[in-house]
Amino acid sequence: MKAWRLNAPNTLELTDMESQPVGDDCVKIKLKYSAVSESDIMLYSGKIPIDAPLVLGRQGIGMVTEVGKNVKNVSRGDIVAIRPFSACGCCQMCASGRMSDCDNLAVYGQSADGFLRDFAVVNANDIYKLPDRLDKKSALLLEHVDMAISAINALKLERGEHILINGASYLGIILAQLALSYQAVPIVVDIDKERLAVAEKYVYYVLDFSEVDVRKRVMTITGGRMSETVVHIPQCGLPLNQALLLAARNGRVAITGWENTAELSGINVEPILNRQLTVTGINGSNNNFPSAINMLVNKTVQVDFDKMPEVNFANVDQVFKSYNGTGHKFILSRIVMD
Ligand SMILES: [Zn+2]
Repeated sequence: MKAWRLNAPNTLELTDMESQPVGDDCVKIKLKYSAVSESDIMLYSGKIPIDAPLVLGRQGIGMVTEVGKNVKNVSRGDIVAIRPFSACGCCQMCASGRMSDCDNLAVYGQSADGFLRDFAVVNANDIYKLPDRLDKKSALLLEHVDMAISAINALKLERGEHILINGASYLGIILAQLALSYQAVPIVVDIDKERLAVAEKYVYYVLDFSEVDVRKRVMTITGGRMSETVVHIPQCGLPLNQALLLAARNGRVAITGWENTAELSGINVEPILNRQLTVTGINGSNNNFPSAINMLVNKTVQVDFDKMPEVNFANVDQVFKSYNGTGHKFILSRIVMD
């Protein structure tokens, strides 16, 4: 089994690892796609501490090649997506169906070996069969769609309401599309021209923070009320304080991201008090993979982002080395196995 293993910060090695036995409740998967995302880069650079050695790669799409004797949900040859976390199935949280809040949660590519490797053995509970008509590459963004669903649910977004999305990352653009399916009105704000250009393909109200008086524009769009709901995406590097000032009185605010990847220091809590805002955190995947798969299949959400870099498995190290830490562009790269 070949794997890109992180031995210490900034030290990635393509190594041969012993193949794992397939337990009764497990499946063996030949990986087809993985990704290098924000959190992988933070782990690589040592900004998020880990127990090395560790195989990075939070997202995994592949074909089932072996099935444990208790496994009923998939068969050999099925193409599946692997959920980025693995729940124990035994604790109180798991028993109440809140697997993503499991007390003994393992996160692939972070606290357990991830999917920058050719084969992986995982618990059958962690995989979802992908329908034939779904473009398999798009499934790499299932966790983004999952998070967008969580954010919309947490905000209790209603038809006709505005949703101010502070950051036109993939997550921001997915959120905007989902909001449209709720007949809400997304307003996407960013400062990065490249991200703004992508957002314009999917969303009507796209505001460039560097060129327009965003507060004034939001006031006009919302008829003076400001936005009933706000989602802040820290990875985009825009100030949260600005987003809070765009919320309506009694507004609902969600901060979305992956753990430890957000820079959220220096928050001004004044608008939270003055406007009586409700603030919620949404962190990573939250058990919405089945709904997320449906949304990709029926094209409620489209993730045909043509600018996503595609890199062969053999060149994974170059993706990490080329990231210089200064950009706030789209930093998700699709990794293709052969
Ligand atoms: Zn558990």
